[in-house]
Amino acid sequence: MYTDIFDKRRAKVGLHQHTTRSDGALSPLEMAELYRESGYDAVAITDHWVYSPVEDFIGIRSLGGAEYHVGYRDAGEGIFHILCLFADREPALVREGATAQGIIDAIHEAGGLAVLAHPAWSLNSLSMVAALRDLDGVEIFNTVSKWTGRADASVLLDIYATAGLYLPVFAADDFHRNMGRNAISPTAFLMIEAEDTQPTTLREAIRAGRFYASTGPEIHVRREGNEIVVDCTPVSRVEFFTNNVVTAGRVLEGEGMTHASYKICAYERFVRVAVTDAAGNTAWSSFIPL
Ligand SMILES: [Zn+2]
Ligand SMILES: [Zn+2]
Repeated sequence: MYTDIFDKRRAKVGLHQHTTRSDGALSPLEMAELYRESGYDAVAITDHWVYSPVEDFIGIRSLGGAEYHVGYRDAGEGIFHILCLFADREPALVREGATAQGIIDAIHEAGGLAVLAHPAWSLNSLSMVAALRDLDGVEIFNTVSKWTGRADASVLLDIYATAGLYLPVFAADDFHRNMGRNAISPTAFLMIEAEDTQPTTLREAIRAGRFYASTGPEIHVRREGNEIVVDCTPVSRVEFFTNNVVTAGRVLEGEGMTHASYKICAYERFVRVAVTDAAGNTAWSSFIPL
């Protein structure tokens, strides 16, 4: 567990990992140990169409979960990969004939959160995502998708938000293996404001929006009157993303910045913030509707 710059307790959590239960190379224990060594407090084992329950390994909790999907190769036919996180039980799902909405609904019936994974990898258009009801979040960054050049879904999420769709922002590794051509090591995580790593504690903190996504820095964003205020660990770039594409002051660069603010314009409907440190690691806030 960690203490942030505002003295709040936080859990560092990886919410998208694959193991030998589907197409991952490491056993659940090996994967959990890898993440424990990188300072994670909990990980979710989210194998393809295989539900894992909560398991406690030495020094790290596996939160369980699964990744359910429809579609295969052609993005034009609609590819949706949906994470099941923090469910109380296995969702009642059958792969044959499954639909994206059916997956979301079944995850909710099992008490879980349904998060849209890697929308950039899947090329999920606004109309595809807007047709889905009740998603609990979306990955803005998916580490393993860097191998196909689409790790960062920021622009897609801003297009969704410009249409009024403000999905909470997640980042995760989608870890499959740590050797060979697609090698990745623990990189992305959520920092969830919580006193422990009980699934129910983390689930309610996420539902309440008490988390941010990151590959390194801390980010804390709030609205103060007509301004959006950011506090963070030292960064070299602060970016305010809104539906306003032109206004000056949306991107700030400097050395060791720990505080920044942005004056809201009359026609802006949302703001989200990203900060990037000198090493190139980024933290992302969720959307603040205005
Ligand atoms: Zn996937
Ligand atoms: Zn995955």
